[in-house]
Amino acid sequence: MLGHQRILSALRAAVQKDNVSHAYIFEGPDGVGKRDTALKFASMLMCGEEQFPCGVCKSCQLYKEASNPDFHEIIQKDKSISVEEIRNILKGLVIRPLYSKYKVIIINDADAMTIQAQNALLKSLEEPPPYIVFILTVQSSAAVAQTIRSRCQRILFNRLSHEDIMEILESNYGLRKPDWEFIVSYADGVAGTALELAESSHYLELREEVLEITSSLVAAGDADLFKFYDTFERNNDRVDYVLHVILLYFRDLLIYKETGDTSLLINSDKKDMIIRNVGLPFSHVLKCIQAVWDARRGLDSNANFQLAIEVMLMKIKQANNT
Ligand SMILES: [Zn+2]
Repeated sequence: MLGHQRILSALRAAVQKDNVSHAYIFEGPDGVGKRDTALKFASMLMCGEEQFPCGVCKSCQLYKEASNPDFHEIIQKDKSISVEEIRNILKGLVIRPLYSKYKVIIINDADAMTIQAQNALLKSLEEPPPYIVFILTVQSSAAVAQTIRSRCQRILFNRLSHEDIMEILESNYGLRKPDWEFIVSYADGVAGTALELAESSHYLELREEVLEITSSLVAAGDADLFKFYDTFERNNDRVDYVLHVILLYFRDLLIYKETGDTSLLINSDKKDMIIRNVGLPFSHVLKCIQAVWDARRGLDSNANFQLAIEVMLMKIKQANNT
């Protein structure tokens, strides 16, 4: 995956200069590329060649086959990472690395470690064997004990730029597709979200359906609110996404009304649906946006799902009829 080149070059330089820390905290939002970067860093540490990772030495080969005994990774399976899991890994650390200069332990979602697990890890961080490198990935380092944090080098992962995300999509799927503007905008700098959307036809089909609903709801005439509600009901576990799609529609409508420039649209592949409602007064578009925000806030504070959505649909419909 592309992105985070600066971080990777800094880590590469540390390996080159033999200036690797015993422990790192990779901190940033979910899906932003922390694990991917940790795995790349580990591949550098595993290789002993001058041009690393060479990909052909014994250590590189074993790493690629996920069977290098000098590498361990913890992936959170249950609600938390238990002390047993940490102890299992730590047990083996007294044995020197077999194929590499380093032993690398990645603990993904380290903020899910129980207190006992953190305490067990802390002991190893206090007096680590010289060949150990820990990489902890977290959403927020505040969730990890200060005693652990103070022993780790902290590396911040920011959201990527829209151009970076676009490049990542291109490197994964080749030629640019019309709905990528939407995907990039929705992903908001998180590569994992962009890839999830691009890979799942369901998300994009749902977007079509929701845009169709929104655009016909706003257009004058009769609209069957109950039929529309059905889409929300069927997708109630993705309601954040659905509401976001609606907000982006109205965002585009405002932009288009203001500028008449279709190149500024996020839903640039759905120009027709936007242009069709260009006659809707500004104040009405704003009312629609308010209605979506109200629904979202209501749902966040556990309002009745059906009521919140139906009120929103009604308000959007009425915006054009008042
Ligand atoms: Zn190698």
